[in-house]
Amino acid sequence: MAKNSSRPVGRHFLHIPGPTPLPDRVLRAMDTPIIDHRGPEFARLAKKCLEGIKTIFKTTNPVIIYTATGTGAWEAALVNTMSPGDKVLMVETGQFATLWKKMAERIGLKPEFITTDWRQGTDPKAIEARLREDKGKEIKAVCILHNETSTGALSPVAEVRKAIDAAGHPALLMVDTISSLASTDYRHDEWGVDVSVGGAQKGLMMPPGMSFNAISDKAIAANKTAKMPKSFFAWDDMLNMNKVGFFPYTPGTQMLHGLATGIEMLHEEGLDNVFARHNRLAEATRRAVKAWGLENLNKNAAQVSPTITAVMVPDGHDADQFRALALDAFNISYGASFGAYAGKYFRIGHLGDINGGMLIGGLGITEMALSLAGIPHKKGGVQAAMDYLTAAHGSAAKQAAE
Ligand code: PLP
Repeated sequence: MAKNSSRPVGRHFLHIPGPTPLPDRVLRAMDTPIIDHRGPEFARLAKKCLEGIKTIFKTTNPVIIYTATGTGAWEAALVNTMSPGDKVLMVETGQFATLWKKMAERIGLKPEFITTDWRQGTDPKAIEARLREDKGKEIKAVCILHNETSTGALSPVAEVRKAIDAAGHPALLMVDTISSLASTDYRHDEWGVDVSVGGAQKGLMMPPGMSFNAISDKAIAANKTAKMPKSFFAWDDMLNMNKVGFFPYTPGTQMLHGLATGIEMLHEEGLDNVFARHNRLAEATRRAVKAWGLENLNKNAAQVSPTITAVMVPDGHDADQFRALALDAFNISYGASFGAYAGKYFRIGHLGDINGGMLIGGLGITEMALSLAGIPHKKGGVQAAMDYLTAAHGSAAKQAAE
């Protein structure tokens, strides 16, 4: 921003991997008088949300809605199904997997970590091998991230289910779908997930502060004997009250208005179209990165994220300085880097209420900022993204006409 200017002009380019830009329609839906959360109008709203959110997780079972961020729903998944000292198998796909593991330790579980170099997602074979070794069936749950937000790796959930079954192991499967839900295909029931953990502030196009547990019959059965202490997050009270459209405590009424609208918008677009749009934007971003001659942190081409691309900066350059410079010069925000790779990459979020034009704006800024920061790269990234999006649009239009 120019010196002496007291306001940035125009809109901010929010390219963090969530919270994502709020559609005006969601904002307007939330801008409404407070209603009685024990009254009939609320019950209608709650039932609409409780039914609607099932269609997003693709489940016919209940989905619990928490007035908490995703971290709360992580804790809810664990305390509702586990007992103190239970072993859980987790995979170190990146920062968020590491945080979930730390939580498991803090609340008195015994997590075991399958380590990776953070440059790929979950390997179902490694899970199968570990479960086969567990002759005493001491591992009570396998916990993975569908999309590791810190690195941009998408893990194959259905394959992990098959791996657990192939090992003949009774462990529950818990999946964090916080940065993949409502932006990439997710099937709680069909994939045999026991607890899916979701959040409002990414694909659902909502503010932060709401999260979800989609639960299987097996998880509900586990809940009956689980001994971890719980109160706010307890499923049983929620399930009972939700049946009649209420919550055990004061719910986030305005968030529920937003959720109803977010779900409505996703269905108007069509979930398959939502997924195709995210795939297109992700591919366009990867092509830009490749044309710049920069490296994607994720090395596994079969596991690239449809919502986030982590871009490595060459040795001798600092990604945090790059982000600060880009914000200052062009009013754009990217996601930060973590762990052993802190300062070595920045993340471009391309999820939520975003279209091709918005992405090209963000990539154009990125190309300018790379030049300004003196980061060695080739020109033509934006052109590569534009060419791809143009061709993708052309073939989609042709298909629609056929
Ligand atoms: N899991 C994943 C994959 C995330 O991306 C995030 C946050 O971005 C979390 C968990 C934590 O959620 P929250 O920050 O909403 O508590």
